[in-house]
Amino acid sequence: MDVGCSRKDSSKPLIDEPENNKIRIVATVGMIADLVREVGGEHVQVTQLMGSGVDPHLYKPNRDDIQSILDSDLVFFAGHHLEGKMSATLEKLGDQKKVVGLSEQLKKESLLQDEDKQVDPHLWMDIALWTGILAPIAKELKNIKPENAAEFEKNSDEVGQKLVKLHELGRQAIQTIPEDQRILITSHDAFQYFGRAYGIEVYGIQGLSTESEAGLQRINDLVDLITTKQIAAIFIESSVPKKNIDSLIEGANAKGHTVKIGGELYSDAMGEASSFEGTYRGMMTHNLITVTQALGGQAEELATLQNMNDTASYHGAYE
Ligand SMILES: [Zn+2]
Repeated sequence: MDVGCSRKDSSKPLIDEPENNKIRIVATVGMIADLVREVGGEHVQVTQLMGSGVDPHLYKPNRDDIQSILDSDLVFFAGHHLEGKMSATLEKLGDQKKVVGLSEQLKKESLLQDEDKQVDPHLWMDIALWTGILAPIAKELKNIKPENAAEFEKNSDEVGQKLVKLHELGRQAIQTIPEDQRILITSHDAFQYFGRAYGIEVYGIQGLSTESEAGLQRINDLVDLITTKQIAAIFIESSVPKKNIDSLIEGANAKGHTVKIGGELYSDAMGEASSFEGTYRGMMTHNLITVTQALGGQAEELATLQNMNDTASYHGAYE
């Protein structure tokens, strides 16, 4: 599968139609913007700064982004250094605007750290854990529009239930992969929470951020792992160039083991706007199905869910 050519220009922010009387919200990444739209419904106008295929570790805010933030009522970001190059801007604008870090409100004991004690920022990869941002979103919206409090709570409950259901189906699906094949290798280390939540061993070629280069030693170690364990598939990520994955495939080939690309996963950005994969639920459904099927498991229930949703249109305000 060659996805390189089909990638659209997603560097422009996704802005809903402006309308009076809506809460104007800026969200950095899609995994937050989508849930804000779900909770806020018709009462919010969300500007999502990073669209599909955009890497939040490397993203630098442009002049339009700053203007959107200045025009907004509320700003949501993830935090724990996910938005590496944006943190200074968010901090600076925090004096003038209400800026809320959502990952930073999740339970401390659920956080993973690397050897350097850096918190792993990819918390949305554990769906049940990520539902923890729904209450803080609802709380901030209620502060601004208390008259709609009941609606925000209802929306939050509904999407929370859907996500918990997806989490359970995901766990069941991953557990159908033959035990010795439950190994997930991707471009960068975005899937540690996914691994812990769904029961699969996880390796990234690059570390927690895509800012660091992958070392040759790391590539060699992973080639050894792939050939020793006879791993069938490894995965590219929609927001990270695939050259390191190609190195692994070539390395394994040179040792006489064929490993294929199991598909493209959405790690740090969702899919195209107006598609199911362009929603948080859709991106995670896609990831769970892709990993399960490529590694020899069964994901029928998830596939049915995906088919049902593929016919729907999402957040029509983009169209
Ligand atoms: Zn990442």
